[in-house]
Amino acid sequence: MASPLVERLAQLGSSARTAVEDERGQTPFAALLERALRVRGALLAGGAGRGAGEADNPSSLEGERILLLVSPGAAWVSAFLGALLAGGIALPLSALYPPAELEWLASDAGVRRIITDGDLAAVAAPIAQGRAVLRVEDLERAAPGRDAAISDIAADDPALLLYTSGTTGKPKGALLTHRNLAVQAELLRAAWGFSDHDMLLHALPLHHLHGVVIALMTSLLAGGATRMLPRFDARRVAAEIERRSVTSFMAVPTMYQRLFEHVDRGGAPGFAAGAQALRLATSGSAALPVTLAERWRDLTGTIPLERFGMTEIGVGMSNLLDPGARRAGWVGFPLPTVEARITDDAGNAWAPGERPPGDPPAPGGSAAVARGELWIRGPSVFKGYLGREDATAAAFQDGWFRTGDVAERSADGCFRLLGRTSVDILKSGGYKLSALEIEEALREHGAIAEVAVIGVPDEAWGERVVAVVVAASGREAECATGPLRAWAKERLAPYKVPRESIVVRALPRNAMGKVVKPELVKAIAAGIA
Ligand code: ATP
Ligand code: MG
Repeated sequence: MASPLVERLAQLGSSARTAVEDERGQTPFAALLERALRVRGALLAGGAGRGAGEADNPSSLEGERILLLVSPGAAWVSAFLGALLAGGIALPLSALYPPAELEWLASDAGVRRIITDGDLAAVAAPIAQGRAVLRVEDLERAAPGRDAAISDIAADDPALLLYTSGTTGKPKGALLTHRNLAVQAELLRAAWGFSDHDMLLHALPLHHLHGVVIALMTSLLAGGATRMLPRFDARRVAAEIERRSVTSFMAVPTMYQRLFEHVDRGGAPGFAAGAQALRLATSGSAALPVTLAERWRDLTGTIPLERFGMTEIGVGMSNLLDPGARRAGWVGFPLPTVEARITDDAGNAWAPGERPPGDPPAPGGSAAVARGELWIRGPSVFKGYLGREDATAAAFQDGWFRTGDVAERSADGCFRLLGRTSVDILKSGGYKLSALEIEEALREHGAIAEVAVIGVPDEAWGERVVAVVVAASGREAECATGPLRAWAKERLAPYKVPRESIVVRALPRNAMGKVVKPELVKAIAAGIA
């Protein structure tokens, strides 16, 4: 079967509508695809970086990994599409990574060619040893290449190599196929109502699933326009929303937090009116604190649409587009074609509505739930980790991908995330606790600006529940162990009350704004946090 992604791009190639808006202006689909075909032609023609014995001027790069270090904008998209239309695998990375990190990723992926631009050439320089560095500006000037009809790319050919966010350990390179990308974009177009009337405000990093697939590919393949900002900047994003230049916005929870801080400083007086005019605002990559969801509702009348995704499966679950049907603290229902299963420790599926034996009643006496590790199956699930057969084999069981996330399913089929088995499910005094649940409760405390709950190894408890807190300005004393425990005892079961509270200036976060808990645990065990 031919690549459905290539087919969709070919349809869009005749459109005069705007595809991308960036600092340089507007680029219509037709011009964008023309530029991508030139990049493709140049990559196919360029012997640079290709090993001896390989045919010159081949018709496909046959899965060669092409590293992208290009500033967000139309040139980024043309380099990205050019690489995958040539039969290569695009590997987008962040220009903010230190050289050692870039080198590790480029070697892990076996990269021989790097596409960069005038602005980022200096970032590529330290990893240029043994690799060809090409400028996108030059590639876009090349001839479109000999066979412009791209027919030899199959649906199951890999298109994109994305490294996981590295929240629980060293990032792993996940291979996504042409089919994965096309399926994912189509599912989200349908679920979220994207069309060629949309203008998406894009300020997410382009080297993880959220920015490149969920945001960019969904908007692009729906024929909509994407306004790409160089980076997230609360002032700039607030200004775009304030002046109603966009119809939709996708973000990670920390972006909402930074936007509210900016608005609270009086930075964007027309922000609420602009935000109310948005057709859609979504949140993902990490749990959206209910306090932030409610803050958005206070401003706009609705909570953001929260969804759950991961590099290996794309977006698996989403709340409904209808604002009245969204549930704060829940990630929604499986998208069409996505099969979701909740399993017990032995890997058996819980039937809908079934409860683990001896399970305490759900909070508020709500309907019966199943709780356990979440497994996913379907056409958006990835092919495997590059060069890691062991990790790939370990991640799948009976055709299901084991997410490593613990989730709860309500009787009506809605899902809630309780955290990752490795860092968020704490084993303390014989109980299994969800750090996410405890964090949610602690955020109700007015003196707590940000919080991460971790399990620190402890002889008596197995793991000791520790809250690492960023205090609201001038309110550090209220967050100290004594007062915080007294406050928490009134609201949480005794075994969930943190044994200790540690006040820090900032939490260690990665590019997606996720708290890197292994780093925190290490720092605290070493007594340096
Ligand atoms: P690594 O696999 O390298 O440790 P990572 O899992 O953070 O990093 P991603 O694939 O980018 O890398 O993120 C997927 C994870 O993000 C999910 O497994 C889940 O834990 C978390 N996540 C995504 N969306 C949500 C959400 N709405 N609520 C809670 N957690 C979420
Ligand atoms: Mg992961």
